[in-house]
Amino acid sequence: MHTADVVIIGGGIVGSSIAYHLVAAGCKNVLVIERETAQGKGSTGKSMGGVRAQFSTPVNIQMSLYSIPFYASFEERLGYPCDYRPQGYLFCATNEKHMAYLRTNYEKQVAMGLKNVRLIGGDEIRGMFPQMRGDDIVGGSFCSTDGFVDPYSAMIGFMTWASDHGATLWKNATVTGISRGTGNFKIETARDAISTGTVVNCAGAWAAGIAKMAGIELPVEPLRRMLVPTEPFDQFPHTAPMIIDMSNGFHFRPESRGFLLAWNDPEETPGYKTDFEPSFVEKILMRAADRVPVFENVAVNPKRAWAGSYEMTPDHHPILGESPEVPGFFFANGFSGHGVMHAPATGKILSDLILTGKTDLIDASLLSFSRFAEGRTIHETAVL
Ligand SMILES: Cc1cc2nc3c(=O)[nH]c(=O)nc-3n(C[C@H](O)[C@H](O)[C@H](O)COP(=O)(O)OP(=O)(O)OC[C@H]3O[C@@H](n4cnc5c(N)ncnc54)[C@H](O)[C@@H]3O)c2cc1C
Repeated sequence: MHTADVVIIGGGIVGSSIAYHLVAAGCKNVLVIERETAQGKGSTGKSMGGVRAQFSTPVNIQMSLYSIPFYASFEERLGYPCDYRPQGYLFCATNEKHMAYLRTNYEKQVAMGLKNVRLIGGDEIRGMFPQMRGDDIVGGSFCSTDGFVDPYSAMIGFMTWASDHGATLWKNATVTGISRGTGNFKIETARDAISTGTVVNCAGAWAAGIAKMAGIELPVEPLRRMLVPTEPFDQFPHTAPMIIDMSNGFHFRPESRGFLLAWNDPEETPGYKTDFEPSFVEKILMRAADRVPVFENVAVNPKRAWAGSYEMTPDHHPILGESPEVPGFFFANGFSGHGVMHAPATGKILSDLILTGKTDLIDASLLSFSRFAEGRTIHETAVL
């Protein structure tokens, strides 16, 4: 039987970042177990790659304040690219309630040390993007260090660095069972069994199934999200930020020679659904053309569109840290749509908690599993 100091279940961006941070902190005997033949087949490879610090809760802002500068210096630190493009996020408010919400968030973000965020008037937005219908835009909020990364490259960069410095990745090794002995766990996989004292659940939308193997009921459920890439399109600037229409949640960003269109259908229900629903194209194009009339001319090939899963928790915040019921079993789950942007912070937090039992990056009790039983859930309203 193999042995490892830490076993990470799931080789997506979160598992890879934790492997990197553990190895960088000196814990080299780390094994990452991935069921697929290649990394990135879970949510990481389906992500829109948006990174932002414009959140409403302090803990989400703090995680971004670590993660975004990390992405900005990724290549220097790791020697691999992550394609961070600081083109910004522009939230467009279409009523005073939105604006009050953005103002409150802005004050919090600035108080916490975010430098490049500013409130912006409706006229300025109309001047920046005359292609947008701006008659109802009352103002907005823009942060120039928000932007996009390539999630696949970041994941591969984290994992390659970790492997180059001592970690091991097993692919094609579905975890099928977890049993507890005295002081350690036995992990059964399709490849071999492993004995370890520390397990980290990084199984994304499948995390509840892994937790169940250890006898834990984890409140994480999959929710389908769909993205529609356009064909090459040059009637809107490719230097644009992620633009969010707060009237209905439609958002889009430049991607390659076209744009990536996103909208979270409120009628979507939880469950493992990864088929792209063709009727979604019409729904999203309607919203796209309503905000950006030239999008009426955009071409879309539905065969290039895709669906993936968000991993939702009841309060839309991740569950990080050690299980109160099963010592040695750690969670890095439930990112509720923010797992790419918060992967660097998660890696640091989990590495700190595993190796030293504490972290300075956040107040870890806020994101602990026990918050649900103790009625300490948090609410983040800025979920995209
Ligand atoms: C359409 C869409 C758009 C998104 N946009 C953004 C965005 O703009 N910004 C952002 O930050 N986030 C975004 N997200 C969310 C983000 O992609 C996820 O939060 C993030 O990828 C989670 O990473 P992960 O490593 O936890 O999960 P995953 O990438 O899903 O990795 C989990 C891994 O666990 C493996 N696994 C599962 N079960 C087992 C098992 N039994 N044994 C071994 N391995 C197993 C899976 O194969 C998978 O590789 C988006 C998600 C979707 C679907």
